[in-house]
Amino acid sequence: MQTVATAPKTTAALRFLSADTTTGIVAYATPSAHDAGRTNVVSLDTQTGATYCDCKAGECHKACWHLAAVRAAWDAEAARFETVWLTDAQLVRSGTKAARMVATYQTRIGRSLASDRVALLAARAEYRRRVRLGLIERSAWIAVPVAA
Ligand SMILES: [Zn+2]
Repeated sequence: MQTVATAPKTTAALRFLSADTTTGIVAYATPSAHDAGRTNVVSLDTQTGATYCDCKAGECHKACWHLAAVRAAWDAEAARFETVWLTDAQLVRSGTKAARMVATYQTRIGRSLASDRVALLAARAEYRRRVRLGLIERSAWIAVPVAA
């Protein structure tokens, strides 16, 4: 009899919590398998790629499955995925628009929308990736608003 591989535990869903446009950190939550009722918070620094988890393994400075899952969750964000297909000019416009939306909502209602913050961090991350790989055109580089 052929066995069917079951999904590894690393595919368990992480729930989006927050995106901080100042620090560039996105956070996700997942129920603790160790302590009933506890929620673990897993974070990813979109600028450096550093990860952090407050689960039991993370507290002991051990690598946990959440760290890989948070990178996958960030990569799967629709805004993040869509930036990959933008031209350099479109990317700069998208990041500029998201930054403007974040600032506008912050001014008007005292907080910005999560979708705008995610779009801004996604544009920044893609911009930095292109700069790091030498892919971005100089004209877009000079515009720079998403890298600020
Ligand atoms: Zn963890």
